[in-house]
Amino acid sequence: MRLADALKFSLKKIPRLDAELIICNILSIDRPQMLTHGDEIISDKILKKIKEQVAKRAEGFPTAYILGEKDFYKHTFKVAPGVLIPRPETELLVEGAIEHLRGNQGSVQVLDMGCGSGCLGLSIAAELKNVFLTAVDISKDAIRITEDNARQLGIANRTKTKLASVENLSVEQKFNCIVANPPYIAHHDLDIDPSVKRFEPGEALFAEENGYEKIRAWSLKAWDLLEKGGFWATEIGHTQSERTYKILETAGFNNIKITKDLSGKDRMVSGVKLYG
Ligand code: GLN
Repeated sequence: MRLADALKFSLKKIPRLDAELIICNILSIDRPQMLTHGDEIISDKILKKIKEQVAKRAEGFPTAYILGEKDFYKHTFKVAPGVLIPRPETELLVEGAIEHLRGNQGSVQVLDMGCGSGCLGLSIAAELKNVFLTAVDISKDAIRITEDNARQLGIANRTKTKLASVENLSVEQKFNCIVANPPYIAHHDLDIDPSVKRFEPGEALFAEENGYEKIRAWSLKAWDLLEKGGFWATEIGHTQSERTYKILETAGFNNIKITKDLSGKDRMVSGVKLYG
């Protein structure tokens, strides 16, 4: 079959961008190359692979899991079922942390709570060469993938991973900056995309206490683990800013800020540990 016909076949089942990404990934070519090589004949083996992956996508299986990677901030991260797929909104936390840390002389200790693919902490460490990252997750898959991503970015020598629950994390050191994209969706929330619910890890999405369980527990833990002057930032659901603000206030944080994402929704709450 011609490459152009394989694309045409795929477009009957899935959106164009997904089809192009899947085909390019299988053939190891880029999108401009694909569009200029439409007459090329592809083997039956390749065609079978394209059909299989298109069928998976048509069932709602996420494109990032099919490709095994996702772009986030300035890099491409390895992903697999078992870790949350990086979302563009989460880049806000990278920017917030970098803004707080830029200009710091000497080494800076950063903790990524519930690191998943590692995209959040690793993006900060890749940007600021004086950052030493500790990435913690309760999932073995997450730790393995974070380590792969650290190697891929060439910053494994500044990255330490820990397989542990954030609540039970015990570390000797303190941190200058702690970031997290915790699970924050309430179990009964009907707003969640069905394919997210079906294919992405529930432990990275859902939390007790109406979604606040980890936001609260991790904010308290962050307070304990921060140096004086340290920065804490958590991602939140767009209706959770008010209560999260109070959680940070109660924990003792100052300079508490709510930041909106590009679609104008409250998405990040941050604070500084000025005293204590
Ligand atoms: N923003 C994600 C979603 O709605 C949820 C991420 C999270 O719970 N941390 O799919």
